[in-house]
Amino acid sequence: MPPEVVGADRVRWGGKSFPGILTNQLRKNTLGDMANEPGGALLAPELTDEVLSCLKAASSSILVDGERREASDGRTIPTEDPATGEELGRLARGTSADVDVAVEAAGRAFEGDWALFTPAQRGRVLWALADLVDDHADELATLETLEVGKPLRESRFFDVVLAAEVLRYYAGWPTKFAGDVLPVSPAVGSLMGYSRREPLGVVAAITPWNFPLLLAAAKLGPALATGNTVVVKPSELTSLSTLRLAELALEAGIPPGVVNIVTGYGLEAGRALASHPAVRKIAFTGSTAAGRTLVEGSAPTLKRLQLELGGKSANIVFPDADLDEAASGAYQAIFLNQGEVCCGGSRLFVHDAVYDDFLDRVVTAAEAIELGHGLDDATDMGPLVSAAQLKRVTGFVAGGIRAGATVTAGGGPPERAPGPGHFMAPTVLTGVTDDMAVAREEIFGPVVCVLRFNDEDEVLARANGTDYGLAAGIWTNDLRRAHRMAAGLRAGTVWVNTYNILDPAAPFGGYGQSGYGREFGLDSMIEFTQSKSVLISMD
Ligand code: NAD
Repeated sequence: MPPEVVGADRVRWGGKSFPGILTNQLRKNTLGDMANEPGGALLAPELTDEVLSCLKAASSSILVDGERREASDGRTIPTEDPATGEELGRLARGTSADVDVAVEAAGRAFEGDWALFTPAQRGRVLWALADLVDDHADELATLETLEVGKPLRESRFFDVVLAAEVLRYYAGWPTKFAGDVLPVSPAVGSLMGYSRREPLGVVAAITPWNFPLLLAAAKLGPALATGNTVVVKPSELTSLSTLRLAELALEAGIPPGVVNIVTGYGLEAGRALASHPAVRKIAFTGSTAAGRTLVEGSAPTLKRLQLELGGKSANIVFPDADLDEAASGAYQAIFLNQGEVCCGGSRLFVHDAVYDDFLDRVVTAAEAIELGHGLDDATDMGPLVSAAQLKRVTGFVAGGIRAGATVTAGGGPPERAPGPGHFMAPTVLTGVTDDMAVAREEIFGPVVCVLRFNDEDEVLARANGTDYGLAAGIWTNDLRRAHRMAAGLRAGTVWVNTYNILDPAAPFGGYGQSGYGREFGLDSMIEFTQSKSVLISMD
């Protein structure tokens, strides 16, 4: 039984009713998938043997040449459950020596077994990996929820389903991706020209903590489809699902050494990987600040960079919109994944004519959110990922209040927290002006600034008035306005009458300080290759 959408902002599923944080993506992701779920029931929250063994083996979290190992100096770092603050296990704290070994293994695999795979064979193993992600969906979702904190149904039906879909999408590309026959000029004599698209070699994938599995899949899919080999450095906070994905890659028939993992800190393993001379490209998702250091660090070796960075996206509600749908959309735009979403609709612009009514709906929805452990069925929203993240988010809210903003819902950790973890009440700020830090900088938590506007030109200028440009949303039933706004918004993705919907066929990336390069789609296939022109004299 697929989830049933009940009204504008609730979903009924497995005999229970949930707020529709995921309504749209659930509708999309579960069309085929949920048909096989008996009764559509949520998974049992007990930790299965598979999950427990992942936690137990965490300290050998470096994967090189298909073998798991500990850090070269034996040191570890803790990984915790953000809902309880308890240690889940300890991960290997990768060193530059570990990075060297992983890059060497990837280099050997690039020249060796992997080079012998035909495009069709690469497609076949990627498809097999997608199937294994589906087969292990419950285990992967549980690992994701345990480390990130997000509700299990989000992990299961957003992250895991999309990760499998991304891999399947890229499994289709190798047999269709080709160079061109070049229309060389007859003036230079009898010449034939064609271009080849060739892999880069060893590439680095560095990922953040908010969607670890999905973002690893988003990099591995095109990197492997185009014949590269990869060293992945997942976030030190959330490495386990990525590690499991790499093990499944071996099971799918991807040769050892093609996908390697080095866990550890950004300033240790991450920096060593990013500056390694044999790494040809860094596919990075993370903060704008870290992205800048990668740009600087890439200069000596002229590495290619693909940077998916932060955002401060505008979600704009015009008075002619379907306000029920828009309210549901505004809600999921900012409260999905605890608001720890790069493209979250953190600036909610509402037209003056409907502002009061709309604000009321958003506040009511925010106040109804049930905070709890992500494995708990009743949980609508989990904790923030770490104590540091909670401090950052509450710091922004406090700064907003000092600057004159009003807390209309939430405002800090809840009065009755559901556990000792890093819980933050869903927060609505009003009385915010565009120059305040809460309206300009990425907060990366469940905090929405609700801003009033009066006309289209004004809101377009204000929406474009930040340094970022990752995404934007428009809610309107006026077709002409939708197209005008979509063209005028400086953002890599524009959603119309929906929000936070991702599709592997739709390139995703930023304008401005949100980075450059595109994940997903054909764009990403191109990003992971270089072209070679071959010119042949026919005289
Ligand atoms: P972060 O920049 O702190 O870390 C991201 C990754 O980079 C981690 O694996 C980290 O260990 C590593 N790292 C950090 N400094 C490094 C350095 N100097 N050299 C090499 N590696 C380094 O980001 P985060 O806190 O993990 O994630 C949150 C950020 O990610 C937010 O800004 C969010 O907007 C962004 N993000 C962007 C997208 C997108 O598609 N644009 C998607 C998700 C998250």
